Amino acid sequence: MSGKLILLATPIGNLGDMSPRAVESLKSADFIAAEDTRVTLKLLNHFEIKKPLVSYFEHNKRQKGEYIIGRVLAGETCILVSDAGLPAISDPGEDLVSLCHIKNINVTMIPGPCACVSALSVSGLPSGRFTFEGFLSVNKKSRNDHLASIKLEPRTMIFYEAPHKLLQTLKDLYEAFGNRKISVIRELTKIHEEVFLTTLKSAIDKYESEPIKGEFVLVIEGHKAEQTGNNKVTLTEAVKMATPLLESGLSISETARQIAKDTGLRKGDIYKELLKL
Ligand code: SAM
Repeated sequence: MSGKLILLATPIGNLGDMSPRAVESLKSADFIAAEDTRVTLKLLNHFEIKKPLVSYFEHNKRQKGEYIIGRVLAGETCILVSDAGLPAISDPGEDLVSLCHIKNINVTMIPGPCACVSALSVSGLPSGRFTFEGFLSVNKKSRNDHLASIKLEPRTMIFYEAPHKLLQTLKDLYEAFGNRKISVIRELTKIHEEVFLTTLKSAIDKYESEPIKGEFVLVIEGHKAEQTGNNKVTLTEAVKMATPLLESGLSISETARQIAKDTGLRKGDIYKELLKL
């Protein structure tokens, strides 16, 4: 009989957030697959746990995925951890989970800290409906396409960002969305934890005038119908917004109708542009 894969959340700053069940599970697993074995070893040492570690990260995930699956199929229990937070959320894990489902392997989890939803909960912005956008690409075209595709997103949006890219990202978000409300959440669960509910413009001003340190989550309010100015969609942006709909098999005419409804642009103008693709 095959074993199982357990995704286990680890603290995002404060070791006190490690649950007793998480510690017990680590102790009883056969082996641990870790994004960075050095980081995980520190965690294991803190809780006096000794377990074999297998490295599993972005650049070895195909080969190591097969290896891990082989051991689990032979009956072992594997715990997957990332450096911090929930595996498979902007972290390795998605592929391994998918592989387990293909092989009919039981996948379960030990829930715990996750920067994304923790930030949303303290953000001060509407939390009833939200989207997780992860990290914006460093490739300019992909980044612009991504931003254009969510310009009219009505739900609250959550982004991850590294400190050295924060300022540029705030500027790009301002350019794409105009002066929306943003909650900049820094160093959750750590000594310098900060929740700064403001506007994109004020956030840029603040981070232009002070050193940027720590880990950040950006929570941004969704589009409101009455927003104007920077939020007007151009025909080029409308075409970008149409691409996923066309790729999903929607006809050009129906796609143009939907995008026209969302953007306020004329259906005929969008239709003509889509014909050129
Ligand atoms: N899987 C992890 C999770 O869901 O919590 C996220 C891993 S992702 C590689 C790392 C990003 O999460 C950081 O760049 C930052 O955007 C965010 N993050 C992680 N810990 C954080 C913290 N303590 N405070 C604020 N943001 C954090």
